[in-house]
Formats: sequence, structure tokens, C-alpha cells
Amino acid sequence: MDHFEIRNGVMHAEDVSLEALAERVGTPFYCYSSATIERHYKVFAEAVAGLGDGDPLVAFAVKANPNLSVLATLAKLGAGADVVSGGELARALAAGVPANRIVFSGVGKQPHEMAAGIEAGILQFNVESEAEIAMLAEVAAAHDARVDIAIRVNPAVEPGTHAKISTGGQDSKFGIPIERAHAAFVMAAGHASLNPVGVAAHIGSQLTDLSPIESCIVRLGALADGLRAAGHPVTRIDVGGGLGVPYRADQPAPPLPSAYAAMVARATRGWSARLLFEPGRMIVGNAGVLVSTVILVKAGTTKTFVVADAGMNDLLRPSLYGAWHDIRTLRPRADRMVATVVGPVCESGDTFADDRDIESVTTGDRIAFMTAGAYAATMASTYNSRPLVPEVMVSGDRWAVVSERNQPAAMLALDTRAPWL
Ligand SMILES: *Cc1c(COP(=O)(O)O)cnc(C)c1O
Repeated sequence: MDHFEIRNGVMHAEDVSLEALAERVGTPFYCYSSATIERHYKVFAEAVAGLGDGDPLVAFAVKANPNLSVLATLAKLGAGADVVSGGELARALAAGVPANRIVFSGVGKQPHEMAAGIEAGILQFNVESEAEIAMLAEVAAAHDARVDIAIRVNPAVEPGTHAKISTGGQDSKFGIPIERAHAAFVMAAGHASLNPVGVAAHIGSQLTDLSPIESCIVRLGALADGLRAAGHPVTRIDVGGGLGVPYRADQPAPPLPSAYAAMVARATRGWSARLLFEPGRMIVGNAGVLVSTVILVKAGTTKTFVVADAGMNDLLRPSLYGAWHDIRTLRPRADRMVATVVGPVCESGDTFADDRDIESVTTGDRIAFMTAGAYAATMASTYNSRPLVPEVMVSGDRWAVVSERNQPAAMLALDTRAPWL
């Protein structure tokens, strides 16, 4: 469900025409619908309300979309944040997420990032290795602090998603192998500066089947039971994120938050622990589009190429993961063409869609890459010296540029000429 609809023959984001926005800000640009973000957050938060002991924490995975206005929209609704770097921590705090609703995840937190989290007073660190336990213990001790931690385990569950977004399998770099998690918890409890309070897992992203998540949760429960039997209180269990979103109108939609919550309720029945959730894609995926203008249509030997002004540097998912984004015209039309939609970047991987049946387009037509709210603008680069594109947020009939287009001169100004040149 999203708020990108055709009205009077033109695609709108809520009450704002994307054609009108394109005239004002130029293309390419990302556009986010705050109503969609709000709706998805509320649907998720309401679905999991009442699960576990006390208030569940819904910590938005900032890496999915770290835009300050996106985070502020969620902070206003009471969301927490799951951060994986000092930069994301700073953004979450700047957006108004209370420190006691922030979880710090990540396989390679550096001492200065740990220090920033401790100084801010975040809820907990999810630690991912024995080496990290020792490192965090030292940083916390130097701050005279005692910090809450959860042991992030690698539950050895294959989530059945794309290899590049799978994090729960045995060969993944993430988490402490589940068979060593009990010992790691005990090791952490031996440090005066650490207060192990929970266990955590996150097995992957764009999951379309609930059963791997359920197996993971069952394993977390067994681990918690074992720890409690050994006298260690486990008061928080973090089940991660991972719920998928529909990318293709012609394919079955992933499970709804209500189905996910019913599964979690079943798998956690009788647990006495606060539950933490880390949804990212599910909240923002369908809340964004990338609007682009067709530069030209080019006849190849065997293919017809639609060359858009957006490239792989703006939206990396198709070339990184072979990901599918529906491509629609801002002014729908009945006639169709089969085209390979590419960007202007000098890489053959700069391809959004191969031999796809799309509405017919020609020079100057505007198109939207749908479902571009998650893992999209945040992965942009300036490859080919292309400026980062702006992000626009819409709320009803209001809109605002919430991240500026950077300018070629400003990009060039970051470089300096070595003194001998
Ligand atoms: C990426 C990530 C998430 C969010 O995953 P989604 O698939 O976007 O829900 C949650 N937790 C951790 C630790 C992550 O790395």
C-alpha cells in the first residue's frame, strides 16, 4: 500500500503532482510520501503491540533510509532506531530519536563509535563477536560506565533470500555462532563494565517466507532458556528485521505485518522478555520513488534501449542485486514497447531492466522507478562525477526538498591539487 497514484492522468505523491515537482527540482530526484511511512510504521507497531513483556521497541533500521526528515517522521511516531555506525547514531539523535530507544548493531564498531553510543546513553549495543565484547568492555570501563548489551547470534538459519542480503547463514560474517553464544554471554557478564541483558538475531532482508524467522526466534528462545537456567536474567530479545515488501505488481505480496506478528506471538508465547524489532525495508520501501527523465531512445542491434537520466550511481539495487523495480510513466499510456532501460553511466551494469515490457516512452518523458524508498538514495555514489540527487518529501499538499542536489562545483571543491602540481 502506498500513496503514489494517478490523478487527472498524472502520477501524484499524495496531493502533489510528480510532474510539477520534476519541473521545480529537476530530475532525477527521489520522492518520499510521509503518509506511507507513517502508515507502515503504525501498521507494524500496532501489529506487535502487546507482544512480550512491557512495551515492545520498534527500532527502525536507519540504514534503509537515513534521511533526516524520514527519521524525524518516524521519531514523532515514537519509533526507536537501529544504527550501525557513528554517522547513523548522530542522524538518529539529530532527528529526535530518544537515546534510550537506540540499538547499536554492526560487526565492526570502532572504539570511537562505541564511545559516542555510551556518551549518548543508548539503550543497548548488540555485540557480534567475543573480540568486540573485550573491546566494548574496555571502552565502557574508560567511561566509568556499565552498558547494556545483547549477544547477536548467528542462528545458522538460511533465510531463503538473495545471497547479498542474507545474514543468518553459517558462513555469514554476522553474529556469534549460536553454539558459542551462551559462553559469550557468560564472558560478557564477567566484565564489570558490561551488563548482558539480552540476545538478538537478524537473518536477512526481503524475506518472503516467515518460517526461517520463526526457526530463528525459536532458537533465540532456547538460548534464553539455557541462560536463565544457568542463573543469567535475559530481559530483552531482539528478533531483528527482514520482512519483505512487494516490488512487482505481478507477483504475490510478502506476508503482512499482521501475519508476521501472529507468528512472533506463537513463537514467543510464555516468554518473559521485552521484544525488540528492527524493521527497515518494510517501513520505507514502498514510500519512495525515483523520478527520472528519458534522455533518448536508442536502437541497438537486438535491443531497444531507453536511456534515462538516472543511473546505477543513483539507484544501485538492480546492478548490485539484480533487483526488480517496476517502471511506470508519470503520464500513463496504453501503447507499450519492449525495452532495456539503462542509465548514462559508463558501465554495462548500469541497467535497470532488461527487455522489459513497459509503456512506450520517448525523449523528455518522465518515468518513476517504484519502491525506491529503502536501500536506494542511501547507496548512491558520485561515480562518473554525477551529483547526488535530491530527496523530496511530500505530506498532503506540502512538499520540501529534504536533501539537496549536490553541485559539480561543490564536489570538485573537495579535491585539492597536490602542492607539486
Ligand atoms: C539491515 C538490518 C535490519 C533491517 O533489515 P530490513 O530487511 O530492512 O528490515 C535490521 N537489523 C539489522 C541488524 C540490520 O543489519
